[in-house]
Amino acid sequence: MTTLQDCIALDAKDPLRALRDLFNIPAGTIYLDGNSLGVMPTATPARVADTVAREWGTDLIQSWNKNGWFGMPQQVGDKIARLIGAGAKEVVATDSTSINLFKVLSAAMNIAAADAPQRKQIVSERSNFPTDLYIAEALCQQNGMELVLVEPEDIAASLTANVAILMLTHVNYRTGAMHDMAAVTAAAHAEGILTVWDLAHSAGAVPVNLTAAKADFAVGCGYKYLNGGPGAPAFVWVNPLHTDRFWQPLAGWWGHATPFEFTPDYRPAPGITRYQCGTQPIISLAALDCGVDTLLAAEIHGGMAALRTKSLALTDLFISLVEERCEARGLGLATPRDHAQRGSQVCLTREEGAYAIVQALIARGVIGDYRAGDGGRHKDILRFGFTPLYIGFEDVWNAVEHLCQVLESGEWQRPEFNTKHAVT
Ligand SMILES: *Cc1c(COP(=O)(O)O)cnc(C)c1O
Repeated sequence: MTTLQDCIALDAKDPLRALRDLFNIPAGTIYLDGNSLGVMPTATPARVADTVAREWGTDLIQSWNKNGWFGMPQQVGDKIARLIGAGAKEVVATDSTSINLFKVLSAAMNIAAADAPQRKQIVSERSNFPTDLYIAEALCQQNGMELVLVEPEDIAASLTANVAILMLTHVNYRTGAMHDMAAVTAAAHAEGILTVWDLAHSAGAVPVNLTAAKADFAVGCGYKYLNGGPGAPAFVWVNPLHTDRFWQPLAGWWGHATPFEFTPDYRPAPGITRYQCGTQPIISLAALDCGVDTLLAAEIHGGMAALRTKSLALTDLFISLVEERCEARGLGLATPRDHAQRGSQVCLTREEGAYAIVQALIARGVIGDYRAGDGGRHKDILRFGFTPLYIGFEDVWNAVEHLCQVLESGEWQRPEFNTKHAVT
């Protein structure tokens, strides 16, 4: 059995250990929720303060040119591109994941309508993140199409001649299960189907290579593993094969080829810039830039490949310690054991008390979260995200120790842990 001393030794020889110092980790906290809101980088407060006090406060309107505000979506997008196997000038950091999904799904629908108008279905996973399904449903209503929801094992069989678009989240938010992006994209393309990938739980968490996978469209989140802060701008990527074929539907002036000519007609900018809509949140983009920099700081230590190796070691350790030490406490594993199918999180199931156990852990400084089951296939889960930039092996050991104590003592049954908050 792995001991606490073993874990301390693993941390001592971890080549990524120094990256932890780039983060403001509150004392007494083991933060296993970076998959929902990443930890604040230590560089962020000064950068945001400078953006506000000097750039806005002093340079005012000149900052659009002088301080590079106008180009920030591209500049931050180029940094994100390095994390997801995209080329320079192929990504913009802008809007939210939901809004970017609306844009790329619309563009994909336009392409399908032009190239294969008989195809009227979008296929997705029933357990996809709900906002993705809601956006797709709304667009289907507008465009006379149909959203077909399937279980992951039925995706391959659902790729028929009626399907225009396969829309998937690469790593499932609920189970941590990861698709083989290249294989699934190839299977879709073989049937003439476009692919839209949501990288919310992938960007900065697992290696992604959109170019090698020949994906068609992708969106992703700025405030999870990219550490961009609450409500950080998201990002959008379009395969250069498709970028200039259609307008995206939110054709605002920031996507215009020459916005400062103020012409009455819309002429989309070439390339990914057309995926911008209106004026961008510069203060939030500054914070996102700091967050993305924390991931790029890992490049000299092996980058996403090294982060992935550590992430798998952390999640393997968590799974084995939970199984050794909390045995017979009613916990199940919802996350795949196979490395090729696992993201950077581990989800445990429990018939009773999942929410309260998470609350009791939070009271002890071990921050994970809870996701309700659906009364059917999906049980209530305790969800733990492992961000290898700032989580260590000793943290994993201590988190499992707390989990064991919460279960053994029954403290989760206390009333204060059984009252639901608005945000779980
Ligand atoms: C977190 C997440 C989102 C969030 O969308 P917002 O527009 O930022 O609220 C969307 N999709 C998936 C798969 C996510 O995990």
